[in-house]
Amino acid sequence: MRIVTGIRPTGPLHIGNYLNTVKHYVELQNNNECIFFIADLHGITTPYQATTYRKEILEKAADVLATGIDPQKCILYVQSEIKEITELTWFLACVTPAGDLRRMTQFKEKARKHPKNVNAGLLNYPILMAADILIYKADLVPVGKDQKQHIELTRTIARKFNKQFGETFKLPKPLILESSAKIMSLKEPKKKMSKSDPPETYISIFDEPEAIKKKIMSAVTDTGRSIKYDPKKKAGISNLLNIYSIFSDIPIKEVEKKFTKKGYADFKKALAKLLIKKFEPFRRKKKDLLSREVYIEEILEQGAKKAKVLAQSTIEEVRKKIGII
Ligand code: AMP
Repeated sequence: MRIVTGIRPTGPLHIGNYLNTVKHYVELQNNNECIFFIADLHGITTPYQATTYRKEILEKAADVLATGIDPQKCILYVQSEIKEITELTWFLACVTPAGDLRRMTQFKEKARKHPKNVNAGLLNYPILMAADILIYKADLVPVGKDQKQHIELTRTIARKFNKQFGETFKLPKPLILESSAKIMSLKEPKKKMSKSDPPETYISIFDEPEAIKKKIMSAVTDTGRSIKYDPKKKAGISNLLNIYSIFSDIPIKEVEKKFTKKGYADFKKALAKLLIKKFEPFRRKKKDLLSREVYIEEILEQGAKKAKVLAQSTIEEVRKKIGII
C-alpha cells in the first residue's frame, strides 16, 4: 500500500500524539511504501513565528527521525519543497465545491479559535491536503477521527476531477489509527491531553527526566488512597494507571495489583521512572540529530528528490488532462 501522511512542524509531540501517530508510522513503514512530510504549508494557516519557523521544521524532522522514522524505508520531506503540490492545489480548487469547505468542522473550530485570523488558507486547507494525497495516488491516509471529514472531501474532489477530465486519481481511504488509548490532561483528567494547553498538563516524549518527574509528581489525583482504575470517580489516578499500563505493556488490573499496598507518591515515582526510561533513547537520538543539522537537511533533500519524481509524473498527467500543457 502507498501511505501518505503529514505532521505539522509546530508544537511538541506529547505521549498521546506519539501513541496514535508516529508510533504507528514507524510500524507502517516496514510493510508499505510510506511518504511522510513536515506540513510547513499547513502550519502557516494558523498564527506562527516566521523567524523561528525553519528551526521548528528541522526540529520536527529530528523528532520523527528520533522516534524511528527511517529514511531508508520511507520518504521524508518538507511539504513546501514539492512545488507540484501547490500547483495541484490550484487545479483541484477549481473542481472543489466552495460550500463544502465552509462546512468542514475543523475550519469552523479553528476559525472560532483564531477569530482574528480567519484567512482563506485556513478555508482552503482541505484542498491542499487533498493535493498532498492525490499527487502520490495514495491508497491510505493515516488520520485521527478529526481528519476523517477531510479524507471524505479528498475523495469527493478526486471523483469530481475524474468525472470531468477522465480517470486520473485513486480514491484514498482513511486509516483511522485512534485506538482506545486516550491520554488525559495531567491537570484536568477529564479533559484530553493537548499540546495547546500549558506544558505542565502534558508529557512531551522529549521532556527531560527532571521535567517528567515534576509533572507526574504534581499531576492531579483525588484525596483517596487506593490505586484503582475508576475513570468516573478517580479520573486522575485512572489516567496515570492507563499511562503506566500502556508504556509498560502490563494490563491495568496487574498494575493495580503491583501497587495495592503503595501510596500515590510511590506509584507516581514509579510511573515517572518508567517514562524517563522509556523515552531515554528518543531523547538521546534527538540530541544527537540536532547536533548534526546538515545531516537532517541531507535526509530531507534526498526525500524531496524522491517525492518530486512521483509528483512530477502526476502533475504532467493532470496538466494534459485539463488542457494546460
Ligand atoms: P493534534 O496534536 O491534536 O493534532 O493530534 C494529532 C493526533 O494525535 C490525533 O489525531 C490523535 O490521534 C492523537 N492525539 C492527540 N491528543 C491525544 C490524546 N490526548 N490521547 C491520545 N491521542 C491523542
